[in-house]
Amino acid sequence: MGVNTTLDIAVLPGDGIGREVIAATVRVLQAAQEHIGGFDLELNEMEAGADLYRRTGDSLPLDVLKACGEADAVLLGAMGLPEVRYEDGREIAPQLDLREKFELFAGVRPIRSIAGAPSPLADARAQSLDFVLIRESTEGLFSGRGKIDREGNELARDRMLITRKGCERLFRFTFDYAMERKAEGKPGKVTCVDKANVLGSMAFFREIFDEIAADYPEIAKEHAYVDATAMNMVKRPWDFDVMVTENLLGDILSDLGAGLVGGLGVAPSADIGVDRAVFQPCHGTAPDIMGQNKANPAAAIMSGAMMLDWLGNRTGLEACRKAADAIEAAVSSAFASGEVLSFEYGGRDGTDRITDAIIARLVG
Ligand code: ATP
Repeated sequence: MGVNTTLDIAVLPGDGIGREVIAATVRVLQAAQEHIGGFDLELNEMEAGADLYRRTGDSLPLDVLKACGEADAVLLGAMGLPEVRYEDGREIAPQLDLREKFELFAGVRPIRSIAGAPSPLADARAQSLDFVLIRESTEGLFSGRGKIDREGNELARDRMLITRKGCERLFRFTFDYAMERKAEGKPGKVTCVDKANVLGSMAFFREIFDEIAADYPEIAKEHAYVDATAMNMVKRPWDFDVMVTENLLGDILSDLGAGLVGGLGVAPSADIGVDRAVFQPCHGTAPDIMGQNKANPAAAIMSGAMMLDWLGNRTGLEACRKAADAIEAAVSSAFASGEVLSFEYGGRDGTDRITDAIIARLVG
């Protein structure tokens, strides 16, 4: 019996520049498929997000949720528009619902320099950063999302939820990830980032980290407080290998990490669970530049490469992993060559032009 090479991808472009960068990513994925071969992507585009909510009162229809659950992977752009809100004032964010419903507990945020995407740090070592932040994505301080606990104009509470189950799966994922990196010649070190000196929930987080770390003697472990980590990500980011932290702390530090390697336009991400995963750029819908062909599609395209890599590991389809590497190399070479300079770096190359340059290198 032949190997099944067909992969069903639920594509949710969403709102704002999400639509523009996903259109670019679809072009790149199709070019990779044609050029490299060995896998067949069935890209099924579906509507979800703020614009859909404005029109229908539903931001994530049940049939879309079901299709995402049945797909081999989900590719998402960005969702939310400032002027469209749920009745309680919150922004429309079905991507957070997907994380919770599919228990996508590991938010993987690679912080990797791309030559040609300027770092704000002067030190030459900042030109070749390569570390990963893993953010817990189903509990922590986001756990009270949607459950308003407020006493009139007097007080409002949010809840920090840390569970043993949530921590164990997060830390095992993180150490396995560090093992894979170590096998590729990277340092093999995990930094647990918390605020265990102040919060009991974070002391519990650290306690479970130490328990799981004991099962991975090959990997070096260290603890760091989040405030010191924010400083050290600026002072000596090259010292990090894999970093793991709570949901809100990870939300903040991943944007700091993106800033170190050229900003949100080049920051990809994956939200991974036991057998499901959603791939999306770190950025939001960027209403300030939407509809102007100014968005840098690199973050979304590299998220597409992460998707192919994950699918390759799950299915054993070597062609997917090969395509993922080829896309990453094409993105790097398009920027490194100086042929394209995107708007956020003061250049004049828009989404289409950057996508063309990446595809030319991919198939060239
Ligand atoms: P969210 O809360 O959904 O993360 P946000 O409003 O905090 O979204 P973004 O929508 O990501 O943030 O935009 C932040 C800034 O970064 C904006 O000025 C936007 O134009 C810029 N930006 C974001 N993504 C890109 C991109 N792909 N290319 C160029 N600039 C971008």
